Amino acid sequence: MEYQGKDLFRRVGIPTPNGVYATSAAEVRDYIAAHPGSWVLKSQVMMGGRGKAGGIKFADDAATGETLARELIGKVLKSIQNPEGEEVRSLLVEEKVAIASEAYVSITIDRATKKPVVIVTSQGGMDVEEVAEAHPEAISKYWIDPAAGYSPFIGRQLAFAAKLPVGYRKAFPGLLGALYTLFMDYGANLVEINPLVLTKDGRVIASDAKVDLDDNGLYKHPDVADWNKKQPADADQAAAVAIGLGMSNYARFDDEPGAAPKNVGTIANGAGLGMGTMDAVKNAGGGAANFLDIGGGAQAELVKKSYELVTSDPRVTAMFINIFGGITRGDQVAKGIVEALAGGDVRKVPLVIRLTGTNADEGRKILADAGFVPVETMDEGAAKVVALANGAN
Ligand code: GDP
Ligand code: MN
Repeated sequence: MEYQGKDLFRRVGIPTPNGVYATSAAEVRDYIAAHPGSWVLKSQVMMGGRGKAGGIKFADDAATGETLARELIGKVLKSIQNPEGEEVRSLLVEEKVAIASEAYVSITIDRATKKPVVIVTSQGGMDVEEVAEAHPEAISKYWIDPAAGYSPFIGRQLAFAAKLPVGYRKAFPGLLGALYTLFMDYGANLVEINPLVLTKDGRVIASDAKVDLDDNGLYKHPDVADWNKKQPADADQAAAVAIGLGMSNYARFDDEPGAAPKNVGTIANGAGLGMGTMDAVKNAGGGAANFLDIGGGAQAELVKKSYELVTSDPRVTAMFINIFGGITRGDQVAKGIVEALAGGDVRKVPLVIRLTGTNADEGRKILADAGFVPVETMDEGAAKVVALANGAN
């Protein structure tokens, strides 16, 4: 994604805007509050064309930043290339630069000659295929001989041929050299800067980044190879944040060979009760697919979203909701469950519910009216949910 591409850019010395990576609206708000100014919120997704898809927003103050971040995180961005869409789970918050000019530069391997080919145009900020179609004369290419490598005259020649505004001339040869180093050293299939911005105050900055790395080239850079592996854990964290929970309030557990199938979804309030619930499931001979700590004071809406998140894991075939009412009110939890299941678009799984404490009686009544049979103890609930998950009626 862009933020990872820019991390690589900085390693080789390509200037990028100042900024921070964020996974929640609160982080965005706090960052802008601490750094007053004009900021761009950029959705971090794999697909391009985020600008057109509504994934790029501008904020001049912390409150606007928070509101826009809330809108973006969880939103599904769609484009012609990606009609299915991709959900936004994190943002890059970056200094908004005053743009004087937008250029385009990329390096890929030319299939025909097997050589790295540099493509440059002064028509940046738009789809390069469109430029190639409408203004083929505005596109300049250079095939680099890998044996001879890169030298600054290539950059000078390309800047001239592509008619880059004069402001680019000084920085461009060095910047292209750095991009070539990145391309070769990381075994990339593609490195692309669109737009490469000339700011009104004369800086040349990579405003966007696209780096497609070949897995075969990554043995030299284990830290970067790890980016791909870390994603499942990060996805859980992002999913928790997207529904308004803390980052560590949701985690999925991988199946283990020899252990019981992890097919029981669990929702509890508080890490302690959550651990207890998972242990009870295990003692009953089952396996918890996940752990979702709904926190204190959960309202019906959050219960509903939590139910949806847990059932979004296809392995989950039954769910145990175990709530001890302190600040979390039993009636709110019950209402959330009933509401979640009333919507036609949710995946319904057998539910075992244990409510204790504040307003538990009201909660149990709401559930009973909706046709659920609540359980009294944790072990009773665990035994029941494991049986249901494994196909009992
Ligand atoms: P993409 O649409 O996914 O390629 O995302 P980009 O990062 O290329 O951003 C899309 C467009 O948003 C750019 O072409 C710019 O027009 C605009 N944009 C992004 N960052 C800035 C900025 O810092 N200042 C200004 N003025 N515009 C920006
Ligand atoms: Mn772009």
